[in-house]
Amino acid sequence: MHDVVIVGAGPAGLTAGIYCARGGKKTLVLGNIYSSQQSMGGLYENYPGFPDGIQGIELSERMLAQAQKFGAENQTEQVEKIVPLGDFFRLKTENWQYEAKAVILAMGASHRAIGVPGEEELTARGVSYCVHCDGALFRNKAVAVVGFGNGAARAILYLANIADKVHLLSPREKLVAEPVYLDRIKKLSNYSATLGAEITEIQGDQFVSSVEFKVGNTPRSLKAEGVFVEMGMTPNTKLAVALGLEMTPGGYVKVNRLNQETSMPGVFAAGDLTGGRLQAATAVGSGASAGISALQYLG
Ligand SMILES: Cc1cc2nc3c(=O)[nH]c(=O)nc-3n(C[C@H](O)[C@H](O)[C@H](O)COP(=O)(O)OP(=O)(O)OC[C@H]3O[C@@H](n4cnc5c(N)ncnc54)[C@H](O)[C@@H]3O)c2cc1C
Repeated sequence: MHDVVIVGAGPAGLTAGIYCARGGKKTLVLGNIYSSQQSMGGLYENYPGFPDGIQGIELSERMLAQAQKFGAENQTEQVEKIVPLGDFFRLKTENWQYEAKAVILAMGASHRAIGVPGEEELTARGVSYCVHCDGALFRNKAVAVVGFGNGAARAILYLANIADKVHLLSPREKLVAEPVYLDRIKKLSNYSATLGAEITEIQGDQFVSSVEFKVGNTPRSLKAEGVFVEMGMTPNTKLAVALGLEMTPGGYVKVNRLNQETSMPGVFAAGDLTGGRLQAATAVGSGASAGISALQYLG
């Protein structure tokens, strides 16, 4: 029996882990730090304390090391089910089960797919959701970025240093991103864009060869060997919904913002799962708050 089990090893879960373990509670963090958004985000320039920025992977490794220093355990297992059993919870993974008096949910969010033919079939064969993981495979090649926001802007900037050509296919009429990114994009010589593009298919035999799209009613095609999808994120709420937690109208886990309590006593939630400003620094803040609340709940 653990005092607290934290589901998710991103900045929210790891910060909660630091607080609970340092508070003297038997703490387990379930989740893989390398599959967090934080680890896949590349360089974090706006996380306080690092004037030259810090790589997301390094930030995750440092947070885990800090939690482990205070005695938190980490298992890289995926939780499949959480069962409330009176005054404790049972968490089931594929091969094991754990019990805890309190649970902190911090499952973050996952990439939203475009949802067109060819996307799933060609994933890992040219279609990617992570420039920092796969960008280097496209050195001196032509790539497309599909998206419309900060994620797309950052992908363009990263890929422009590697690929021969980077073409944005945006379903919106404008790339809406932080001015600092837009200024840098303006200076790129190997970048072009099609705005208002409705993607219809990703084509390729073994590997991606082109992206088919429409602008208005006119069908068009872009030759590309890589397609980076940056269509935003969707919260990983499956476990919370199955547990019967109250959700917000936007589909996030509903919490009391003062203490990160959910609608179920003993269950707290933090980070992107709870909506709001989806940032590493805010995930850390709500993770700290959830950790403190769990300590108070445990007494
Ligand atoms: C490309 C990119 C760039 C970004 N750039 C910035 C930036 O510059 N600055 C900034 O502040 N923010 C940035 N962000 C956003 C920031 O990374 C997120 O807001 C932050 O990581 C959210 O933290 P989190 O702990 O809520 O979730 P995540 O970091 O998503 O972590 C979720 C964790 O939960 C685990 N998990 C999910 N389901 C389960 C399950 N069933 N069982 C066990 N574990 C599970 C995952 O494996 C992961 O470990 C960026 C995000 C992306 C994708």
